[in-house]
Amino acid sequence: MDKYKNVVDFIRTLYKTDDFIPLHAPVFYGNEKKYLNDCIDSTFVSSVGKYVDLFENRIADFTGAKKAIAVVNGTSALHAALRLVGVQNGDEVITQPLTFIATCNAISYCGASPVFVDVDIDTMGLSPKSLSFFLDENCEKRHGKIINIKTGNRVSACVPMHTFGHPVRIKEIADICQTWHIPLIEDAAESLGSYAGDTHTGLFGKCGILSFNGNKTITTGAGGMIITNDEEFGNLAKHITTTAKVPHEWEFNHDMIGFNYRMPNLNAALGCAQLETLPTILETKRVIAEQYSNFFKEMGIDFIQERASVKANYWLNAVKMESAEERNAFLQYTNSQGIMTRPIWTLMNKLNMFKDCFIGNLDNSHYLEERILNIPSGVNR
Ligand SMILES: *Cc1c(COP(=O)(O)O)cnc(C)c1O
Repeated sequence: MDKYKNVVDFIRTLYKTDDFIPLHAPVFYGNEKKYLNDCIDSTFVSSVGKYVDLFENRIADFTGAKKAIAVVNGTSALHAALRLVGVQNGDEVITQPLTFIATCNAISYCGASPVFVDVDIDTMGLSPKSLSFFLDENCEKRHGKIINIKTGNRVSACVPMHTFGHPVRIKEIADICQTWHIPLIEDAAESLGSYAGDTHTGLFGKCGILSFNGNKTITTGAGGMIITNDEEFGNLAKHITTTAKVPHEWEFNHDMIGFNYRMPNLNAALGCAQLETLPTILETKRVIAEQYSNFFKEMGIDFIQERASVKANYWLNAVKMESAEERNAFLQYTNSQGIMTRPIWTLMNKLNMFKDCFIGNLDNSHYLEERILNIPSGVNR
């Protein structure tokens, strides 16, 4: 009998089904159809409509952000945010190698290159210690700019990511960025409902971004959001993501190269309904995480739990196996039994596009890459 058979049995009891169990499926048990119908009846299905403003206001309320700007997806939110903090052609942007490709794609859209700094084992996200080390070893301030003296390039932003909804040591990172005057943008795509202390992730630096892709905690079909406590920055973000049109009753004037990134009303309507059920979704996620935690403790497998002083949303539950071999055996068996499990991402610095990017010591990232895998985490049960 396979050693992971009891894992499969447990997950089937958890999800009460003999059918295929996906990693994360959306749930629609609120006002989704009602609001979508309302959109269609009103004919306002596209980039103008009341649900966009409503969704932005409600996300601002939920996260405690001064401003929230709805856009077409999380990647475009990152792209616009990076542009607005001044990331330019030839710059370097500090991030972690253990992230989803979107983080590095957005950096590349600005003509900049990612610089990969190691993660902490427990948070799976950017390590403040490694960040400090990278800056002290390689960077200096010249004429008000931070320059990587090994490459000669300007370092123009830092983008930590809250992996699977587990907050990184963001206060420490924010302090370091402040000392070095490096703009901080949090990739909070996975961490809606995750907090460090009392503050929602995404609000420790210049801005944060959220994603509402179909596999995220709540979905708008496709969608993203920039959240910020800097009102002026928020207004600029709104401007650049809506073609930079200068307000006027009828004239078309644009004062910079803007993006057509505004979230359509249809998607925002879905988002408003989803947001109403978010508290329930987050509660259920905690219950599921607790059940997993108890089960894996008995099995002697390391289930990833939130650290003290932070609150994780448990978007994707994860376990850390003892070796790559054990991880592969777990993946092989569970997937063969109709239970979707996935390894953590291939390190970004291994991808062809980023293989020549500047890297620090990445021991922790390599360690986690071999061992972490995700297990079903949806609330569809
Ligand atoms: C989902 C995600 C994004 C944004 O993805 P979109 O599909 O563009 O909304 C960005 N970064 C990370 C880490 C993500 O997981």
